[in-house]
Amino acid sequence: MPSDLFDCNRCGACCSYLADWPQLTTARDRGPDGPPAHMVTEDGYMHCHGDRCSALVGEVGGRTGCSIYERRPQVCRDCTIESPSCLVARRAFGLVVPEQRSSLDDLFTPDGSSGSSAGNRRG
Ligand code: SF4
Ligand code: SF4
Repeated sequence: MPSDLFDCNRCGACCSYLADWPQLTTARDRGPDGPPAHMVTEDGYMHCHGDRCSALVGEVGGRTGCSIYERRPQVCRDCTIESPSCLVARRAFGLVVPEQRSSLDDLFTPDGSSGSSAGNRRG
């Protein structure tokens, strides 16, 4: 699968998939290096508009970006390109996924404990 099909800056699906997903789970997330307080709910989730994280800019499937990239929560960092959560979100928005991994739609969970693997996201 060509890597350009999995360019986070032309996707944004996981940032728009589930309002209960982008949440603060670590001490770093809750500290000065985490998301700005005004973007976080009292119970520790990113503010969302519907299912779309308020920090996402652009249009899903078009040009997208995280406006707090350096301060994004750990769950976002853990949702790596081609991870199960990534593929589920992309499928939900009709974006291309590797056919052999297209049956994993039960792995993206609201508590962020899905099969996400560690690594970079959006760069
Ligand atoms: S991790 Fe996957 S779903 Fe999320 S923005 Fe990147 S390509 Fe899209
Ligand atoms: S904080 Fe950034 S990376 Fe995380 S869901 Fe929101 S827009 Fe996406």
